[in-house]
Amino acid sequence: MKPTISINFHGIGDPKRTLEPDEAPYWVTRDQFENVLDRIAATPDPAAYVITFDDGNQSDHDIALPALVARGLTARYFVLTGRIGHPGSLNAGHIRTLQEAGMTIGSHGVAHVAWPTLEEGALTREICDSRARLEDICSQPVTEAGIPFGRYDARVLRALHTARYTAVWSSDGGKMKQNAFLRPRTSLRRDMTETMMASILAGQMSPVRRLRRTLGMMRRQWIVTG
Ligand SMILES: [Zn+2]
Repeated sequence: MKPTISINFHGIGDPKRTLEPDEAPYWVTRDQFENVLDRIAATPDPAAYVITFDDGNQSDHDIALPALVARGLTARYFVLTGRIGHPGSLNAGHIRTLQEAGMTIGSHGVAHVAWPTLEEGALTREICDSRARLEDICSQPVTEAGIPFGRYDARVLRALHTARYTAVWSSDGGKMKQNAFLRPRTSLRRDMTETMMASILAGQMSPVRRLRRTLGMMRRQWIVTG
């Protein structure tokens, strides 16, 4: 199966809630977002790209959905269930609208915590309670997760696998295999230039970064911490 490039967004435009520390750089402008979609839509094979959203911000529905539909693109939305219905975040009606428009809904956990830091019971609740809430809203199975902050280790991956998730999305960057369990994504940031975004979409990565990524992914999959 040919490699795919996966692009991850967080919020778009002006946030409608108080941001977490260090979150602001991950909010892109509407122009940046639409520019990336235009580039993907203009490629000979838009299916070579996967577009995802983490956190479940209201801009997923208000800005991203119409822009995707206008270009015939689909995306995956990884929703924090602890924020559903809160100001600035998706509510249950938004989530159903996304689903009815052909978008995939997945879990980003409940409370936006780093999963490797949790003890067993809390980790299971993050992974399973969030999914149960989304399945209740969507009335269909939820099988994918976006890993909060891209932080995982072997124990987290095992827990996701045991809970019968079929695909989990990290933030390791670079290309991914379409049928892999662990799927790396690149998170776009507001401070990225158009040239940087174009090179990410072209799948370009320096040899040093590629080596660091490979070693990092190997280490996180085999060393159990927390
Ligand atoms: Zn997140």
